[in-house]
Amino acid sequence: MPRSYDRAAHELRPVTFETGVAPHALGSLLISCGDTRVICAATVEDSVPRWMKEQGVTGGWITAEYSMLPYSTLTRKPRDISKGRPDGRGTEIQRLIGRSLRAAVDLEALGSRTMWVDCDVLQADGGTRTAAITGASVAMFLACRKLLEEGRVKKLPIRQRVAAVSVGVVDGEVLVDLDYSEDKDAAVDMNLVLTEHMEFVEVQGSGEEATFSALQLSAMLDAGRVGVGKLLDLQAGLLGLPGKTT
Ligand code: UDP
Repeated sequence: MPRSYDRAAHELRPVTFETGVAPHALGSLLISCGDTRVICAATVEDSVPRWMKEQGVTGGWITAEYSMLPYSTLTRKPRDISKGRPDGRGTEIQRLIGRSLRAAVDLEALGSRTMWVDCDVLQADGGTRTAAITGASVAMFLACRKLLEEGRVKKLPIRQRVAAVSVGVVDGEVLVDLDYSEDKDAAVDMNLVLTEHMEFVEVQGSGEEATFSALQLSAMLDAGRVGVGKLLDLQAGLLGLPGKTT
């Protein structure tokens, strides 16, 4: 089956970043990965959670939130507040984003502050969690750069950027950056998060009523790593940073 955007099996959808979409946030952008579009915004509060103070933990904290806007899906998705309970999938995804960002941030250098990174899906077409991670890493970087410019921190509180991509097996073939039509037919579905040093932060992968071989797993990891490398390069280009990862 031909892929969207006429792309090859291991190719990403077109990626664009539009920065400054939420001017009241310290750092914000709209990331588009094909038809999946996510608003990522980082804000900072000059306080840390109470448990940190109580346990004498120094440095800052980072928290991520993820949600799909009601009109981001083909049929309207009610807001959690209207349903009166948080959505399990959303909770799992925001934990994944939080873990990924904690690999990226230097909490000591952030000081006694909490960074909130909000990811709101504007349009969903597969890979919203991976687009959110790739975008959130940039929003956080922009916010940290602002903190440094304003003299609120002594050094950039970033250890490394992170980015993420989905990989799957559809009709026996390894595909990178699946859109929804591919995602729903995938026998195997994986999400890979890597740092700019090309080390894994997280690997989520499962067979959907199917199993996969060690050979397929290794092919998915290889193809996904190359895809994430491209995303890291695009981030670096946007941020005016040197260095190619691949
Ligand atoms: N999706 C949807 N409504 C939902 C959950 C998912 O329309 O409540 C669609 C959406 O296009 C999403 C895709 O299914 O991107 C795949 O969802 P999944 O849970 O695998 O997460 P994602 O791939 O977005 O990280």
